[in-house]
Amino acid sequence: MVQEQIARRGLTDERLLSAFEQVPRHLFVGEGSETMAYEDMPLPIGFEQTISQPYIVALMISLLQLDGDERLLEVGTGSGYQAALLSHLAAEVHTVEIVPELARQAAAKLAELGYTNVQVHSGDGSAGWLPNAPYGGVIVAAASPRVPAPLLEQLVDGGRLVLPVENHRRQLLKVYVREGMQYAEQVITSVAFVPLRGKYGWG
Ligand code: SAH
Repeated sequence: MVQEQIARRGLTDERLLSAFEQVPRHLFVGEGSETMAYEDMPLPIGFEQTISQPYIVALMISLLQLDGDERLLEVGTGSGYQAALLSHLAAEVHTVEIVPELARQAAAKLAELGYTNVQVHSGDGSAGWLPNAPYGGVIVAAASPRVPAPLLEQLVDGGRLVLPVENHRRQLLKVYVREGMQYAEQVITSVAFVPLRGKYGWG
């Protein structure tokens, strides 16, 4: 998976690849999908949600340009897979999940696997997660109709927000970099994500 799907497509950062080598993806995918865990595709994780294709997860994480000392926010914990990867690449990870049962399962799995620098919060992450803000990076695993303003506001200066945003019925992966009170936008590629629910999502 790491060589064929990620490195060969141009993501060759050593720390990123090493994180993917260390996290057992088959323990995070939904029951019955274990044998397909390392295939080049998204997979179901229950509650009508999906874990993204490995390359897309790698691309989004690489866009955060992590040094290793950041405090991060992930919106959409899902299985906890991406949170586990992030925990290898940053100092502290806060991840918010709106489906309470998914939050509970992910927290249990991450604890069982010994990830001590990840905290799973149950709630609406479309408004960010104020108690631990600001964040060096924010990454969103579900697509919203527009960029949720609180996610921008909860970035440190120089911090990066990576998220899919709906645009004329297509979704675009975007990056926003905070520069004081300004935000520089970059459009990366088109993607397909489940909808972001909640106050700053689809409701
Ligand atoms: N990062 C996950 C994949 C998540 S799929 C992984 O590695 O497995 C998207 C997740 O976002 C789903 O679990 C969905 O329930 C959650 N979600 C949708 N809207 C949300 C919101 N407003 N706040 C927090 N989580 C949300």
